[in-house]
Amino acid sequence: MVKSSTPFGTRYGSTLRKRYAKIWSTYKSPKICPRCEKEGSVYRIKIGIWACRKCGAKFAGAAYNTFSEMGRVVRLRAVIPVEELKKVNETVNNDVEEAV
Ligand SMILES: [Zn+2]
Repeated sequence: MVKSSTPFGTRYGSTLRKRYAKIWSTYKSPKICPRCEKEGSVYRIKIGIWACRKCGAKFAGAAYNTFSEMGRVVRLRAVIPVEELKKVNETVNNDVEEAV
């Protein structure tokens, strides 16, 4: 059985997919707003830019989480070509729009 928790399918090898799945689950999990501290109200406008539905706060953060985990992101960028990463980001954005 193939567990497809990422948009990569069987590409890029299992180590990378596991790494991505970890980031993906972080991205999908409810975020806590740094201003009003409401959980689950934060959503991502663009890569690295987040906003809160409750209080309207906009703030910068990391690509897949509201706080920076640069080491992890840098590692991901190091193994995925920029063009592929753009496609991934498009996939992520489409996915969010469908979910809303
Ligand atoms: Zn807020």
